[in-house]
Amino acid sequence: MSSKPDASRPRAADTKKVHIADTQMTRQNWYRHVNWLNVTFIIGVPLAGCIQAFWVPLQLKTAIWAVIYYFFTGLGITAGYHRLWAHCSYSATLPLRIWLALVGGGAVEGSIRWWARDHRAHHRYTDTDKDPYSVRKGLLYSHLGWMVMKQNPKRIGRTDITDLNEDPVVVWQHRNYIKVVLTMGLIVPMLVSGLGWGDWYGGFVYAGILRIFFVQQATFCVNSLAHWLGDQPFDDRNSPRDHIITALVTLGEGYHNFHHEFPSDYRNAIEWHQYDPTKWTIWTCKQLGLAYDLKQFRSNEIEKGRVQQLQKKIDQKRAKLDWGTPLDQLPVMEWDDYVEQTKNGRGLISIAGVVHDVTDFIKDHPGGKAMIKSGLGKDATAMFNGGVYYHSNGAHNLLSTMRVGVIRGGGEVEIWKRAQKENSEYVRDETGQRIIRAGQQVTKMPEPIPTADAA
Ligand SMILES: [Zn+2]
Ligand SMILES: [Zn+2]
Repeated sequence: MSSKPDASRPRAADTKKVHIADTQMTRQNWYRHVNWLNVTFIIGVPLAGCIQAFWVPLQLKTAIWAVIYYFFTGLGITAGYHRLWAHCSYSATLPLRIWLALVGGGAVEGSIRWWARDHRAHHRYTDTDKDPYSVRKGLLYSHLGWMVMKQNPKRIGRTDITDLNEDPVVVWQHRNYIKVVLTMGLIVPMLVSGLGWGDWYGGFVYAGILRIFFVQQATFCVNSLAHWLGDQPFDDRNSPRDHIITALVTLGEGYHNFHHEFPSDYRNAIEWHQYDPTKWTIWTCKQLGLAYDLKQFRSNEIEKGRVQQLQKKIDQKRAKLDWGTPLDQLPVMEWDDYVEQTKNGRGLISIAGVVHDVTDFIKDHPGGKAMIKSGLGKDATAMFNGGVYYHSNGAHNLLSTMRVGVIRGGGEVEIWKRAQKENSEYVRDETGQRIIRAGQQVTKMPEPIPTADAA
């Protein structure tokens, strides 16, 4: 097979200069692969903050303010950048949009326009080469690598952001991004603690720099941890996963398998007890008249997805089990041949026209050796189905693994016909595996057969 064509690489690029991201990294050119601006913002500045923290004492008020501002700016990303602008999962009034654009900017994760465009590409092309932060390229890549290393912007999948270009708040924030970052990222947190309780430097270091670091790392976890850790209750064809730890770290964005299935739902967690402060914030904004049109998938649709995924898991489990040779693949035996073989010492028993070799099972038979031996070489359909003992579904399942043939003519012809009919009517799963439900083994009669002798 030929290798997959790289559709993301435009032809025009062949004639122009090759993007650095599309060249091999070597000892000579590695520094050209690095996005130094991003390295400064997401590694260099936090590192500088950590160093300063050694001699800047942390005051309690500043610590509390840093945590509060952490939530403000974090929610600016999750409730604003993500659920409002990237997914339009609700509508917000102008004051709320301005607030979210400001505090979201304070998280220092790029402009709404840039962030939401990449995020839409992430949803549309999840796990592919067009996914800007595909976890298939490694956990570290999806967390930081995609920003630290230069990416060819032409490789990222195209998405429609016309709606964002029409939102004056988004356009304004994009145009004034650097001013917004400096003001909301550093100046405001410093002003509050400086004017409030005189801790200018502490506000700068803790509520500014280090808080930025924590917010960034938390939201980066949505791209890495949420695609790596946890369960996949709705769809396991892609990497998104649900996990409480990710939810705790990311202000509720941790139910990511649900989110990729139902991206325009304003919730990520659908159960009341799951941690989703972003959902609670949006809901509270609605009560305050700041948010409206909160979108929600019907639970009927959500449960359908959950059941289908469960079904898939069950199918996979079923396929691993031994359900016995299908009837149509068994050799046909003459009745006389069956009786003859039994006389020669083979432990064959015919039930419902299906011949089973129970030689090795006789000693383990829960009803005793004598009982099972009395059925050898005979038509034991009635005995097995209530005549002597009404065998359990488990017994029918076990019996089916001992199949060695089907009887032609003689014996229970009618039952054999029924068996044939049932075999052709087995329900099959999507991989073509037979589904044999409890009580539906061909050896099982619909009603227990009373013993003729007992009457
Ligand atoms: Zn994702
Ligand atoms: Zn999303």
